[in-house]
Amino acid sequence: MATDVIESLSPRLIAVAEKRGCAYDAWIFTNGYLLSQEVVDLLGRCRIGHVHIPLDGIRENNDAMRRLVGGGPTFDRIVENLALLKPPIKTLIRGNTHKGNVAQLDELKELVTKRARETGNRLDFYAASLVDTSSRDDPNEQMAAYAFDGIEVSLRLEARHVPVGKDHSCVAQNLWMVAIDDEGYLYKCGGKLCGQPKFAYGTAHSWDPALPLATASNPDMLSRFLNTGTPEPGDACYECEWLPMCGGGCPQLRLFGKHKCPPYRAEPERLVLAIHARKHR
Ligand code: SF4
Repeated sequence: MATDVIESLSPRLIAVAEKRGCAYDAWIFTNGYLLSQEVVDLLGRCRIGHVHIPLDGIRENNDAMRRLVGGGPTFDRIVENLALLKPPIKTLIRGNTHKGNVAQLDELKELVTKRARETGNRLDFYAASLVDTSSRDDPNEQMAAYAFDGIEVSLRLEARHVPVGKDHSCVAQNLWMVAIDDEGYLYKCGGKLCGQPKFAYGTAHSWDPALPLATASNPDMLSRFLNTGTPEPGDACYECEWLPMCGGGCPQLRLFGKHKCPPYRAEPERLVLAIHARKHR
């Protein structure tokens, strides 16, 4: 965890908010593996009130996807570390869901709920369907065989924001949301682009949020994402009856020519039947 990066950028973000009389809060997205009391103290100093941790299933399922560089497991240590995240920190566990682990979703949610009871910490859970797990060497490619369309997952109350436009804005859609990798590069996407400097728009060291375009090392990358956060004027999405729910899809995929409609557009009957089944469960 790049604690020096967080310590470097947070005061500048807080200063911009205070100068404008705005409330300030920050999230950190972390795998949770290296959490320690020292790191938790730093979160307090940097006014990071929310911690977001992904899990890809229970134990072996998670460890098959989220393993150490040398291949070691991570699940047990991450779950153990949840005890460190004392109130007022709020922690959101994202259950990354795909065909291979969807059967474990309820069990994973129960495990998180149990851990919240044990620790007295605020640990919430939501499920999110993975749409892309292609490798880092294969940037921005759609996965094929592993894709999970997510209809069932997006119907879960916890996943109400999975259709991107519904009750949700992502990093791409808001200038003040910043995804930072462990080397301090800044991105407008917290997904797989994060960690690939060629998609970065600046660095934590030199970017000044008070002068966002002037201090971006790659201002075009920043403005391209902001301009793609919602469909462009004339886009076919504005004629689409699903727009209020879908929001036009993932900005990152649209920007790089991989635009994809959510599966329920092609299968509305399946969506309606799934909602019906859920309501009468
Ligand atoms: S379903 Fe497809 S066409 Fe309709 S708003 Fe979403 S992305 Fe646009």
